[in-house]
Amino acid sequence: MQELHHECGIAAIYHMESPTPSRLALKDGPEQIARLMVRMLIDLQNRGQLAAGMTSFNPHRESVLDTYKQIGTVIEAFRLNHPAKSETILRDYAGRAAIGHVRYATCGKNDKDHAQPFERYHGRKWKWFAMGFNGQITNYSELKSELLNKEDYYLMRDLDTEVIMHYLSYELRGDDRPDLVQVFHNLSKKFDGAYNLVFMNGMGDMCVVRDPNGFRPLCYAVDGPLFAAASESVALSNLGFGEIKTLQPGEMVLIQDREGEAPAEPLAVTGSAGASPSRPKQLRVVRYAEPRRPSAHCFFEWIYFANVASTLDERSVYLSRAALGKELAIQEHRLGLIKPDYNTVVVPVPDTGKAAADAMAYELGVPSVEGLMRNRHIGRTFIEGTNRVDRVKMKFSPLREVLEGRRVILVEDSIVRSTTLKSLLSLIRERGGAKEIHVRVACPPIIAPCFYGIDMSTVGELYAPQFMKGKIITLEEQQAMARALEADSLFYLPLDAIARCIRLPADRLCRACITGEYPTEAGERMYQLALRKHDDGGAADGRTYEAPKGCG
Ligand code: SF4
Repeated sequence: MQELHHECGIAAIYHMESPTPSRLALKDGPEQIARLMVRMLIDLQNRGQLAAGMTSFNPHRESVLDTYKQIGTVIEAFRLNHPAKSETILRDYAGRAAIGHVRYATCGKNDKDHAQPFERYHGRKWKWFAMGFNGQITNYSELKSELLNKEDYYLMRDLDTEVIMHYLSYELRGDDRPDLVQVFHNLSKKFDGAYNLVFMNGMGDMCVVRDPNGFRPLCYAVDGPLFAAASESVALSNLGFGEIKTLQPGEMVLIQDREGEAPAEPLAVTGSAGASPSRPKQLRVVRYAEPRRPSAHCFFEWIYFANVASTLDERSVYLSRAALGKELAIQEHRLGLIKPDYNTVVVPVPDTGKAAADAMAYELGVPSVEGLMRNRHIGRTFIEGTNRVDRVKMKFSPLREVLEGRRVILVEDSIVRSTTLKSLLSLIRERGGAKEIHVRVACPPIIAPCFYGIDMSTVGELYAPQFMKGKIITLEEQQAMARALEADSLFYLPLDAIARCIRLPADRLCRACITGEYPTEAGERMYQLALRKHDDGGAADGRTYEAPKGCG
């Protein structure tokens, strides 16, 4: 599936002062640790390719906090193809701590101003902060109205990141430096939705926060005085960290000087750092909010969004996808749909369908072949502005030598709007010369929008609801979908397979887009609104109600 986009990835890194630097620190020393942020953002590139940025902390620099952000992939934004230019950027933004962000936006402006981190300058260093956000605030319109109803508030951008920034600033008001745990606790009472945050202030305090439902993944690791956190584990394992821990829903990592704090379970060495060299910094993992249910991890992270090399909430993405493929094979045997023969091949839709396709083929005893090649070198900007059919033709090449005359079982990770799949089917049949195409989807039908940070927010844009009368798809409805797509057959994975394959109980997952049951109040409200708009003939694409413009 090439139709869905994530809304961002976040990362943080901090080398606290210590007589012995971490073995993972660069040879240039801890003061240059912010350089590693670029490497981390490259590993998170799958979560957003429109913009990238970082804020570094350096108490020896005129600007204690400084933010660099640009439109483009990480390579483009940090000019990594121009060693001299990228070196200048990395030298200018050197520091012993940094937060970073990669951005995808559904419809917010694609300009530098909308890129993150957002920085809010203030003359008092504990009020001066930068933040990056991954998710979507579901009760955005209520929060926005609340702000605008206050005297003197003005929003420059229609973004939930901006709203979060204002609420954060409000919590930092007054003359007394507040307890940051209390700050995020107060915000958790206000916010509904998915909000993983990285935060750093001019004192060199850092917070890494996972929302109380844990929609989006967030993990961290410690190596001596070095701490790092990221949306996905691959960004930490590739830096060389050994043990990678999950930040639980409702927890935050806090790096702060000790003064006025009651240390609880210190995890890392302490040392003086940053703006207050005489004060030791301490890293703590703190519960700042009680989860409202065990958790609501987005199942789509394992199926499609996350890097296949990542482990999220202690569950491997690769193994989950392989389990989905095995389930597809079991279903094939159970329903007796296709009798695999010498002429049958399994073809994954690259790249996210590959693990499932390989596992399915293995179970069926037929080859898994790369009948569709994805052009990895086609530039994002080159295909921008072309229609989806042309984009698919530019991005994929069918291999006639492996497809011609074959019965193809095409494994797709999911179907959202179907436009990409339709184009792929015609490529495989017409240019590839396949005799039959049987589509197998490693996910149940998507029947409801997402209000937690994934780019599908209306009922009308979804393919499956047009065919389905109830919430569980029937054999006849799947046949009707196959006919509409001009496939020889089409079958989805059953709903109950998802929890089994990810190996998490269903009540710890968000499955709202495949069940229509939302884990938060604002999500449920938005769904009812979306259904009403759809019944009233709301637009199939574009948002039919106010939601933030794809920011986090
Ligand atoms: S609605 Fe679907 S895509 Fe959105 S968070 Fe829940 S499971 Fe993920």
